[in-house]
Amino acid sequence: MTNLILFGPPGSGKGTQAQSLVDKYKLLHISTGDLFRYELGNDTDLGKLAKSYMNKGQLVPDEVTVKMLRRKVESEPDVDGYIFDGFPRTIAQAEALDDLLEDLNTEISALVALEVQEQEIIDRLLLRGQSSGRADDQNEAVIKERIEVYRNATKPVYEYYDANDRAYTVDGMGSVDEIFQRLCIVIDSL
Ligand code: AMP
Repeated sequence: MTNLILFGPPGSGKGTQAQSLVDKYKLLHISTGDLFRYELGNDTDLGKLAKSYMNKGQLVPDEVTVKMLRRKVESEPDVDGYIFDGFPRTIAQAEALDDLLEDLNTEISALVALEVQEQEIIDRLLLRGQSSGRADDQNEAVIKERIEVYRNATKPVYEYYDANDRAYTVDGMGSVDEIFQRLCIVIDSL
């Protein structure tokens, strides 16, 4: 199995690149942001809870997020691997993911981080907010909070995987295709 974490700040292009990677490597794409938005759209209890954090740019509590992620992974066991997008976002989530994959006799092959300059991220998110309908992309204060949360809570996840040489960085500036080619070079080298 090849299990990848697509890592990077909000607006770094994880979702876009995940789509292309899924086509090429036949992996299952799991985005916790998409899973929360699905719940939100269906107005479930989980969706209502998630919304109260998402609209402020804060993280949904680990326990809730991990439970949802575990349920999704366990419902799709017959795959060649997973691409995790937007997860893990804390060290506790990374530890929970390691445990979950160990239960399935597999592990994370690599974390690949997309590096993008902060002003570019803000510009991209505001632009996306014009068409995505996402409340958290339309407010510059919320965008800044998401970047701050990324810096404080999420960035240490890179070091967590780097400690056993599973973390890679890719330049996330340029065209979608250029960035995709850079990702493929890393993945093909695994
Ligand atoms: P995303 O679509 O990945 O940018 O996620 C949108 C929002 O969903 C985030 O700002 C968080 O509020 C929530 N969220 C998504 N994934 C996670 C996660 N792994 N842990 C906690 N909250 C998350």
